[in-house]
Amino acid sequence: MAEELLSLLRPDLRDLVPYAVPHYPGYIKLDANENPYDFAPEVLAEVVRRLSGQTFTRYPDPEATELRRRIAAYTGMAPENILAGNGSDELILNLFLSFGGGGRVVITPPTFSMYAIHSRIAGAAVAAVARREDFSLDLAALLREARAPGTRVVVVCSPNNPTGNTVPREAVEALAAEAAGLVLLDEAYAEFAGESCCDLVRRYPRLVVLRTFSKAFGLAGLRVGYLVADPAVIAGLLKVKQPFNLNSFSQLAAVTVLEYQPLFRQRMEEIIANREELYRRMKQIGGVEVFPSRANFILFRTPLPAEKVYAGLLARRVLIRNVAGPGLERCLRVTVGTPAENEAFLQALAEVVAEGEGSSGV
Ligand SMILES: *Cc1c(COP(=O)(O)O)cnc(C)c1O
Repeated sequence: MAEELLSLLRPDLRDLVPYAVPHYPGYIKLDANENPYDFAPEVLAEVVRRLSGQTFTRYPDPEATELRRRIAAYTGMAPENILAGNGSDELILNLFLSFGGGGRVVITPPTFSMYAIHSRIAGAAVAAVARREDFSLDLAALLREARAPGTRVVVVCSPNNPTGNTVPREAVEALAAEAAGLVLLDEAYAEFAGESCCDLVRRYPRLVVLRTFSKAFGLAGLRVGYLVADPAVIAGLLKVKQPFNLNSFSQLAAVTVLEYQPLFRQRMEEIIANREELYRRMKQIGGVEVFPSRANFILFRTPLPAEKVYAGLLARRVLIRNVAGPGLERCLRVTVGTPAENEAFLQALAEVVAEGEGSSGV
């Protein structure tokens, strides 16, 4: 009997809602901040070429030695400062498991939902320091929470998902200098902002910077993330790491991708230009409030209920993300796609907003 089996579940997980991902094959997919551009043919050909020299009968390199060496060069840090993960999501969980459990994790909503989910899975209490109305951090309140003895990890995301704004470098430094525990800076979208705080790890050993290959390098399907941290922090993380977390194929693909940086950089520049064009065009749609973004997505608000906008776009085969909630009333998030995808989204959004305003009179 399902109820009886569920009574065996950890009590603190009973009302945890699993992360759900809607699936609409063939739709214009602008809901997950993925890279809209497929690999350049020469990159794919090189990955395939290298496969023939590879055996998949052996376990992968648990230390991802070659990949960490390449990431070190890319970030300007040492391989000892790098830990690779099966997506950066895994590293968030591992950081909370090793440093957060039994204590408090401080988050800054509205922000990425996985921080609260992984905190609970790791057995850490979640404390929230809400962002201000303009989505900037309430630094004074955050510093107070960061200094509190029970606080094990403070999490800030820059550029923040889903608001798109960055955290000033001085704020990161203040937090890293004063925190009682660790400071996790999630830089999943750093390449689109053109700035990073990786180098601060040398001066502030409590700072952990999280990065991913899923967004700027388009490897979301292969699950490759990494973090930059003090070697002592990494030693702590190794205690909870699954030994073979990052498979051989993903290691090989990520190494290859880093050898084609100019190609990817060019695509990133295109996405940034497309973002600015999309922002400009969205602002021309009457009634739509658009927030500036340093990432590859844009947050916006309409006069209509967000569910209505979401459903209206879906009816026009455009999938975006409804992020409405506290601090994000009537807000949705759209990923910057190809110019053609962005056009389809703009047209659908204009129709949905015009229609809704006509019928409901809001
Ligand atoms: C997409 C995203 C991630 C997850 O990246 P993976 O490496 O694919 O797990 C992490 N943090 C934020 C803020 C994200 O938006």
